[in-house]
Amino acid sequence: MDIDNVMRLVRENIRTLAPYSTARDEYKGDIGVFLDANENPYNNGYNRYPDPRQSTLKELLSQIKGIAPQSMFIGNGSDEAIDLCFRIFCEPRIDNVVTIAPTYGMYRVAAAINDVEVREVQLGDDFSLPTAALLSACDQNTKLMFVCSPNNPTGNSFSIEQIRWILEYFDGVLVIDEAYIDFASEPSLTTLLSEYDNLIVLQTLSKAYGLAALRLGIAFAHPQIMQLFANVKYPYNINLAGMERAAELLKRDVAAEVESIKSERERVAQALEAVPCVKRVYPSDANFLLVKVDDAKEMYNKLIAAEVIVRDRSGVQGCEGCLRITIGTPDENEHLLQIMRN
Ligand code: PMP
Repeated sequence: MDIDNVMRLVRENIRTLAPYSTARDEYKGDIGVFLDANENPYNNGYNRYPDPRQSTLKELLSQIKGIAPQSMFIGNGSDEAIDLCFRIFCEPRIDNVVTIAPTYGMYRVAAAINDVEVREVQLGDDFSLPTAALLSACDQNTKLMFVCSPNNPTGNSFSIEQIRWILEYFDGVLVIDEAYIDFASEPSLTTLLSEYDNLIVLQTLSKAYGLAALRLGIAFAHPQIMQLFANVKYPYNINLAGMERAAELLKRDVAAEVESIKSERERVAQALEAVPCVKRVYPSDANFLLVKVDDAKEMYNKLIAAEVIVRDRSGVQGCEGCLRITIGTPDENEHLLQIMRN
C-alpha cells in the first residue's frame, strides 16, 4: 500500500488537525533571549522546555539503527506509540483492530481505552502465525493489525515471508512490535519499510539497551506517518533528563550484555529441560523463556516464597500451565534453577 492510501485510513479529525505549535517550534536561530515560553529564566539545567522533536536523540538513534530521523518517533515507552496508533487511525466504536493471541496485553488495553474493538486470532500449533485467519478476521473497518515478533509471551519470531504476505494483502496498517528484536536470530523487519508504506515497526530502549526506567520507545515508519505521530503526541513527551541520560548510556556497547543474556537463555532452557516438574521449554528469540510446568500456580508460589518473581501466564489461553521467566544474571538464573529443582 502506498502512502496516499495509508493517509486515507487516518481519522478525519487527525488528518485535519492543526497541531499545537510550541514556542520553540517558531524559533530557528542559535542564540537568543527566550521570553516566549513563560519559563523561569534562572538556569538550573532544566528551567527551559526540552526539544519537542528530540533532534539530538533522534540523530544518535539514527546512527545506531541506520534509519533517518524523519522516519522515527520517540515515545514515552513504546506503549505511547501503541496508544498513538489507535488515536491516529481508529474511530472509536466504528473501527477495529486485529491481533494475535496470546500476545502483549497492551494492545487490548489501548484498544479498550480508545473504545475500539479488538479481534484476536489464536496462534496455531507451536505458536505459528495464522496468516490466513488474520486476514479473514479483517473487514472494511479494520485499520490496524498488531503482530509482536518476537512475540510476548510465547518468545517465537515470525518469518519475513509471512509478514510480507500480510503486507501484500492487508488493506490497513501493520504494526510489528519488535521490543525483543535484539535477542532474536533474524534481523529487524525495518528492512521492509522502504517497500511498504503501511508498515510501522516498534522498538524500545527498555529491553536490550537496559533503559526501561527512562521510558524511551521508538516507532519507525514513513515520514508522513511519523509526522502524524508528532502532531498528536503531547508536545514535550520526552523530558530533557531522560534524553541526556539516554545519550550518555547509549555510548555503552550493550553487545556483551545481550550475548550473555542469549547464552544464558540457552543454558537455562537446557537446565530446565532436566527439571522433573518441567513439561516443556518453548524455543525463545527473546530475553525470557515460556516454561510449561506440572502445576504453574504451585511453582509460582514456591518461587514467590523464595522471593523470586516470575510471570504466571497459566491463565492465558494457549499458555495453560506456563510461567514466563525473564533471563537474569548467571547468579540469578542459578538461584531460580535451584529452587525449581527442589
Ligand atoms: N511491546 C512488548 C512486546 C513488550 O513486551 C513491552 C514491555 N513489556 C512493550 C512493548 C513496552 O515497552 P516500553 O517499555 O517501551 O513501553
